[in-house]
Amino acid sequence: MARIIAVANQKGGVGKTTTAVNLAAALAAAKRKVLLVDLDPQGNATMASGVDKHDASPSGCEVLLGEAAIEKAIVTTEAHYDLLPGNGDLTAAELKLMDALARENRLKEQLAKVSGKYDIVLIDCPPTLHLLTVNALTAANSLLVPVQCEYFALEGLSSLLDTVKAVRQHLNPQLEIEGLLRTMYDVRNNLGNEVSAQLTQHFGDKVLRSIIPRNVRLAEAPSHGQPIHLYDRSSRGAIAYIGLAGEIIRRERGSQAAVAALHAMH
Ligand code: ADP
Ligand code: MG
Repeated sequence: MARIIAVANQKGGVGKTTTAVNLAAALAAAKRKVLLVDLDPQGNATMASGVDKHDASPSGCEVLLGEAAIEKAIVTTEAHYDLLPGNGDLTAAELKLMDALARENRLKEQLAKVSGKYDIVLIDCPPTLHLLTVNALTAANSLLVPVQCEYFALEGLSSLLDTVKAVRQHLNPQLEIEGLLRTMYDVRNNLGNEVSAQLTQHFGDKVLRSIIPRNVRLAEAPSHGQPIHLYDRSSRGAIAYIGLAGEIIRRERGSQAAVAALHAMH
């Protein structure tokens, strides 16, 4: 079964999509079988993966509404990960789901049909804590939170953590925090260092070791429809996302070892 990681933070522009796309590509380059789910009506992860969101049919909308089989909607990208495309229709799906039964479980149910084919599923969430994000948190094993090392970075983290608490209580007791990821980090910026120190103070070892630097190549790559390692594999951004993929893989091994040790005790 795949490990399912939701990339979420209700703040916009913090690097969720950049992280989801480039982590998917870096994990695929490390020979992991990866599915990226674009759950944001903006469809940025779809476009950044080189798939035209307007041509995506069926897309995540039909899948969530139970109108199309998930296998039919998934496409393979140039960077060798699979993609469940998303576009503006997701807004309609979210509205229609409001009145549906088991509305929070739709993504989980659909992913269960394909997760045996993948090692890792990454979900790029919209910048809200509404039903689409709740679907992601209900389906996920863990939550990866990109945090931009700038003004007001910590603002809003508490409402995200309140949502996590509520989801654990009512929908998904197993949900873990994979980690907080510092993004757009600039060593020359004192504020970035301050925010980084504050994060570590509040969240301790939940702050991932990998740090994503501010790097213009990361901002350019989406307009070419390419993850960073196809666009400029020697850039600092590409190297940082390869480092993050390594850290995520090591954590997975760590948790597998922990599970094996537990089994050995019984
Ligand atoms: P979100 O999905 O959280 O809204 P994005 O990943 O779309 O955030 O990033 C917001 C903007 O910042 C985009 O234009 C993106 O290209 C740019 N960006 C993201 N990460 C970096 C980075 N590390 N360095 C430079 N630009 C970045
Ligand atoms: Mg985004």
